[in-house]
Amino acid sequence: MNVLAYRDGTLFNQLFRKFEPFFIEKRESLGRKFRFMEVCGTHTVSFSKTGVRDLLSPYIDLTSGPGCPVCVTDQADIDQMIAYAKKENVIITTFGDMMKVPGTRTNLYKERAEGADIRVVYSASQALQIAQEHPHKQVLLLGVGFETTAPSIALSIMRAKDEGVKNFFVYAAHKLTPPAVKSLINDDNHKIDGFILPGHVSVIIGREGWRLLEEHQIPAVISGFEPIDLLTSTYLLTKEMEQSDYTIKNNYTRNVKEAGNEKAKSILEEVFTISSPKWRGFGSLPFSGMEINSAYEEFDASKRILCETPKSRVVKGCRCGEIVKGKETPFDCKLFGKACNPDRPLGPCMVSSEGTCSTYFNYERAN
Ligand code: SF4
Repeated sequence: MNVLAYRDGTLFNQLFRKFEPFFIEKRESLGRKFRFMEVCGTHTVSFSKTGVRDLLSPYIDLTSGPGCPVCVTDQADIDQMIAYAKKENVIITTFGDMMKVPGTRTNLYKERAEGADIRVVYSASQALQIAQEHPHKQVLLLGVGFETTAPSIALSIMRAKDEGVKNFFVYAAHKLTPPAVKSLINDDNHKIDGFILPGHVSVIIGREGWRLLEEHQIPAVISGFEPIDLLTSTYLLTKEMEQSDYTIKNNYTRNVKEAGNEKAKSILEEVFTISSPKWRGFGSLPFSGMEINSAYEEFDASKRILCETPKSRVVKGCRCGEIVKGKETPFDCKLFGKACNPDRPLGPCMVSSEGTCSTYFNYERAN
């Protein structure tokens, strides 16, 4: 089916009319609404922007999860990246969504205005090219992202090695998504009935990458991003709960395979080793990150470029740490839409286009 077919309004309405009695019946038999989490930031935007969140709200509470990479990056990492930008002879290369993320005292955008050489790139290979064009500078790429972004960064490191580039470095703050989901299901104070799993991450790790949810008997569905994907995934999740069926359903078969993308996974294994980094809100999560392994250590900024470690603290009142765990919504933050807005963000969830706060600011209203 062509992707446009998943946006077909007539088909969507037919499906919703078919599913609605089932949603009503299940809500009545459970005695409350279902509580599902959309793990992925792109899903958060899609649910809100298309109005599907609002349409389902009488039956299902959809809460956002830790699926925005900028939002889950620990404050200490943000401050460390900004500290690198202040160094002489360093060019920082970064994807655009990092520019306005607030550090403890400043952000990359302000540092650039003060004279730091910070360049927004659209790919890791562009950062490598900048390194090749400036052999007397240390060119540092900020590696923020999940399983989806990490392979292209790993590939740029492999290329740098092949081509003998000596002035290209990566600050690797990559995260793995399943350990964050595992942490949520192990939290007894946080009841989530089921998970809508990220389509893009699943393209890389495959359906098999989510086995831990089957082991914990948690219903989950891998979903695409179009309105019909969102609706059918929510229906499938409700159906799983009804039938106590804990098989991970792949509702994004047009892009997700059982074993994922074998080539991307082998590139990740070649360059990275599993680490246990700190996440915003979660603290240290075992085996939840990727750092550069010893074979490629010469490209590891944290090991090869000396830099002070600044003191970090989160903006007083910012609730991003709870929002990325789905324990609070932006409406629980007293700063939301007042002191904190997309023009003047105080936390990462308001900066990133996939952040829950910016999504709610743009598309949701408090009830
Ligand atoms: Fe943080 Fe701003 Fe969101 Fe509040 S509204 S949680 S300050 S990003």
